[in-house]
Amino acid sequence: MSRPVFRFAPSPNGLLHLGHAYSALLNAQMAAQADGRLLLRIEDTDESRSRPEFVAAILEDLAWLGISWETPVRIQSEHFADYRANLERLWDMGAIYPCFCSRKKAQADGLPNRDPDGQSHYGGTCRGVSRADAEQRIARGDTHGWRIDMAQAGDPKAAVWGDAMIAKRHVGSSYHIAVVTDDALQGVTHVVRGLDIEPATPLHKLLQGLLGLPSPLYIHHDLIRDAEGHKLSKSLSSTSLRELRGDGTTAEDIRHRLGFG
Ligand code: GLU
Repeated sequence: MSRPVFRFAPSPNGLLHLGHAYSALLNAQMAAQADGRLLLRIEDTDESRSRPEFVAAILEDLAWLGISWETPVRIQSEHFADYRANLERLWDMGAIYPCFCSRKKAQADGLPNRDPDGQSHYGGTCRGVSRADAEQRIARGDTHGWRIDMAQAGDPKAAVWGDAMIAKRHVGSSYHIAVVTDDALQGVTHVVRGLDIEPATPLHKLLQGLLGLPSPLYIHHDLIRDAEGHKLSKSLSSTSLRELRGDGTTAEDIRHRLGFG
């Protein structure tokens, strides 16, 4: 029997905080208990927010915490061709369409429903563009992203997203298509991640179904909150592991504080 495969997949757009430490330690613990493997993946497809210094900090902070992972580490920005190949397959089956609307226009024409990220559902302006027209516009270099055609792809659980963007303008990929592609390519069997990402799971399962990829087992853990009960986040500059370490906190203290012995 092949061994279970777990992964920790941070985005390098800030320093790791206690919430990340919890997720990483939980993955490491579950992998150890199951005699499984632990992979680390750097999710840096959003090049406007990712920084190389945060990649270096992630590797250093995880090692300091006492976590070990298999190498090589998969860096998503080195694999756009893999995401592209899956996008092409989805387009060939009519499950996605290119969207030429600017972000502003898409929001202005949006439907009243909101997706779990708080964005209006896309109103569908580009859904009706014929394939020939779309190909012509792509060939002449019109900026475009790719949206899932929920009516075609059909799954009521994923429909809360509306025609979600699965490849962003200027980037040619997005978290959703990249995560599904990589979990399959890397043979991930167990996805252990925070409850904040749980709303995206039906969309990920839908993409797996369309692409004929195996669906891992999903486990969504509670989020670590600060003393006031707020969710920790990099953007709110929650206390980073680095800062805690600078104040004299040891890796042992952190493991203990998060309930790992
Ligand atoms: N890269 C995502 C994040 O840092 C996590 C993705 C996942 O675990 O599926 O929020």
